[in-house]
This record gives sequence, C-alpha cells and structure tokens, in this order.
Amino acid sequence: MSMERRDLFKLAGVAAAAAVLPAVVTTSASAAEVAKKASGKSVVIVGGGWGGLTMAKELRKQDKSIEVTVVEKKDIFMSCPISSLYLGGLESVTLDKLTYDFYAPAVKHGYSFVQSEVTAIDRKAKNITTTTAGVIAYDILVLSPGIAYDYETQFPTWDAAKIQNVAQACPAALMPGSEHLALKRQIDNMDDGDVIIVPPAAGKYRCPPAPYERTAMVANFIKQEGIKGKVIVLDTRGGKFAKGAAFQESWADLFGDIIEYKGFTKILDVDTAKKEITYLEFPDAATYEEGDEDEAKKVVKKYQVCNLIPNNKCSPVTKMADIKTNGAGYALMDGYSFRSASDKNVYVIGDAVSHGIPPSGQTAIWGAKRAANQIVAQINGKANDPKEGLPAKAANVCYSMVGGSPEEAIMVTHEFSADPSGVLNGAGNVPKPADGNGKFRSKGTGKALHEWFEGSMRELFS
Ligand SMILES: Cc1cc2nc3c(=O)[nH]c(=O)nc-3n(C[C@H](O)[C@H](O)[C@H](O)COP(=O)(O)OP(=O)(O)OC[C@H]3O[C@@H](n4cnc5c(N)ncnc54)[C@H](O)[C@@H]3O)c2cc1C
Repeated sequence: MSMERRDLFKLAGVAAAAAVLPAVVTTSASAAEVAKKASGKSVVIVGGGWGGLTMAKELRKQDKSIEVTVVEKKDIFMSCPISSLYLGGLESVTLDKLTYDFYAPAVKHGYSFVQSEVTAIDRKAKNITTTTAGVIAYDILVLSPGIAYDYETQFPTWDAAKIQNVAQACPAALMPGSEHLALKRQIDNMDDGDVIIVPPAAGKYRCPPAPYERTAMVANFIKQEGIKGKVIVLDTRGGKFAKGAAFQESWADLFGDIIEYKGFTKILDVDTAKKEITYLEFPDAATYEEGDEDEAKKVVKKYQVCNLIPNNKCSPVTKMADIKTNGAGYALMDGYSFRSASDKNVYVIGDAVSHGIPPSGQTAIWGAKRAANQIVAQINGKANDPKEGLPAKAANVCYSMVGGSPEEAIMVTHEFSADPSGVLNGAGNVPKPADGNGKFRSKGTGKALHEWFEGSMRELFS
C-alpha cells in the first residue's frame, strides 16, 4: 500500500472523530423556527474559496466549541492563482495541481461543508436560505463570495443573450471552472493567428496582475509551439498597471516579437461567429480620458482566441445580505476590522471588502485570519483591537510567472496599514531580486512562486 493510501485511511479515522453537522439544516421548518435553534456559537460562511476555507480552518483551530459551516455552490475547488501557468502550457502546472476536494479539510478540522447555493439572507432572523440544503441559522455570518462580472454596465447595448454568447466564446477566466477549461482548450487547439487579451477596462478587479501574467504565459505557449501569431493586449492603462515596469521589461526581453501592447483602447463589439473584435484605439492618454472618439482609429481584428475580461463588481451576496456597500457592491467595513459597517454579526473577507487592499488570494488568507481573531474574541466576550499588528509588512506577496523556459517570475509585496481615512490600505513595492542580474525577474522568484502556491494550498486544505 502506498504512503498516500495509508494517509487517506488515517484521515478517515479523524473523520469519524471530528465530523460535525451544520449548525442547523432543515428543509421544512419555517425560518423563524430555525433561527431559534442556532447554538449561540454557530458561524456560517458563505463561499468556500480562499477566504472562506481559511476562515473555517482558523476558527476551528482557535476554538473547537465553535460550530462552523461552509456553504459553497461548487463541488470542486479550483485555484485561479497559477492558472495562467496551466493556460500557458508550463509542464510544472497540470489541472490536477489546481483542483482540490472540499471534504478533506472539513473532515480534518471538524467543520461542516454544505454544497449548495445561497439565495437569500435574512439578517433579522439570522439565517440563510440555500437551493438544496434548506434554511441554515447562524449566530455569526461570514461572507467570502468573491466577485461577479459587470458586462451590463460596460456594454450597455449588449442584451442578455449577447452577453452569454461572449462570456462563453471569449471566457474571462477570473472565476475558476469551465471558463479556464474553455480557454485552455481554445489555446491548445489554436491555428496560426492572434490571441487577444482584454484586461478589465476600469474599476477594482480581481488580481490586478493576472491579465498581464496571462499575456506572458500565452506568449510562452505561442513561442514554444512555434505558432505564427501574437498576443495582443487591448488595455486602457497606458502601461501603468500592477508590476507594470517589471512586466514590460520581461515581455520585451523574452517575447518582444510576440506581445503587442495597446494602452488606450475601447472595445465596441465582438463577433464570436466571425471571430472578430472591433475596438477604438486612441492615440494617447488625453484623448482616451476625454473619450475623444473622433481622434481614435476604429480597428476590426480577426482572432484565434479572445480572452475578454469585463469590469468586475462584487458578488451579489453582499446585496442579498442588505449590508452597506459601495457603488460596485463591495462591503463597507466597520473601521479597520472585517466586520460589516451595518451589522456586528456579519463579517466580510476576501475580494468582497472595500478596504484599500489588493484583491488577492494572499490578502484573502491574511484577512480571514484577522477576521477569525475578531470573531473568536466576539464569541468569547473578549476585546480585539482591529489595528493589532499594523502596519503589517509583506502582508500580501504576489508572484507572476513571466517566462517559461527557464521559469522566471516577478513579484510585488504590499505593506498593509491603518489608513487615516479609516480603512485598511496597502502600499506596494516591486523589488529586483538578488539573482536577477539587474532585472525584475529571476529563476529564484519563479521557484518562490511555486513554494508560495504550495504553502497557500496547505493553509486551505491541510
Ligand atoms: C487568473 C488569476 C490569477 C490569480 N493569481 C493570484 C496570485 O498569484 N496570488 C494571489 O494571491 N491571488 C491571485 N488571484 C486572486 C485570487 O484568486 C482571489 O483574490 C481569491 O480567490 C479571493 O478569495 P475570495 O474568498 O474572496 O473569493 P473566491 O476564492 O472566488 O471564493 C468565493 C467562493 O464563493 C462561492 N460563492 C459565491 N456566491 C455563492 C453563493 N451564492 N452561494 C454559495 N457559494 C457562493 C464561489 O463559488 C467561490 O467558490 C488570481 C486570480 C485570478 C483570476
């Protein structure tokens, strides 16, 4: 019997000892009846992603008397981080490496995993309604639902059918699952021709460096496979994006003849049948910012693969909870804490917060741990200072792979602090590594990227 198999049996033993049922799950009782039954120590977490799974484990680690239930609509976990390496055909990242089951950590840490979609939240009655697991009561509710796409505001003339068509033919792949698989298949099967990558045009969006890492990794694939084609980035940021100088240095050095970056564009249409994208290209920042379309050139471009990433907004779950949010749906926070500004029994973590910290998996882990401290203190009637440990150096460390052979990466670190404006804020630094020969990228940073990912998966799943 292999070591791996033996470990699995060991885990099954833990399962029997530690498994707990969800706080209260019912399909028949009325909401009011259910609410009465919450144990007083029931924490229900909406979303089993980076924030939610960290929270569940951390709460159980800190206080075994807390009953924790994670409600997640998907039945498999897939990672967005390092998915660009998979798209780009790097041998070090297979689909297997990106996917996990939700059961093992639930069994090991003794929290309950409920696979269902949350459709309503009643803060007065303190319960949530799910599609298949009835009504679940809570004492404290944690929201870690992530993002949603905002095609509607960005493309007001597109109807629902057009949006569905573009979303499926030109998958954004900022949310894991079919979108990544569809994009991967398209890239794998492409003929000579171009790949278009459209980063979100405006506003806060998930993982600011992601579209640019993807650009490098798809270019790597094109080079590796000898495809005659380019990766064309249709951006709005004129080169001023996350790790911008580091990306542009690497692109020029490694894929100068493959990557074409256009800094001031506006997407007008995508014809998915003809595989054509129509956009305006503005000559400079001023004409773009003024929206001076007379000065812009209209371009109709054929593509092989189009990765159109629309603007982001917060998942509708924050609206469902009827808590205070900003215009894009991100939760307004109670000072420097991860508590909602509206309700002392509702916490929000991950990308869904309105703190001025970057929406990343690493930030979600960092925030979930802080929020868990705050929740454990609240449940046990103890004080917690939300400014504790601030400023936090290197609270977010985010790597991007920029080269495939050899693997080389760049990085940014963020210090998070209590901003005088009353929210958490992050200040970034893009260092040049000691082994980089004066460049932003290095093999050592590439190795650190893999170590970071493995460490993160241990945080969520071990
Ligand atoms: C291509 C790409 C590369 C990235 N690279 C990095 C990186 O290198 N480093 C890094 O730190 N971060 C990276 N990120 C960012 C990272 O993936 C996100 O910031 C992180 O996943 C946010 O965690 P979260 O818990 O807020 O959301 P998620 O991890 O998205 O989890 C939200 C969960 O909520 C569930 N959910 C939503 N609504 C409901 C509902 N109604 N009922 C039940 N469940 C629901 C969803 O199914 C989902 O599983 C990358 C992202 C992308 C897209």
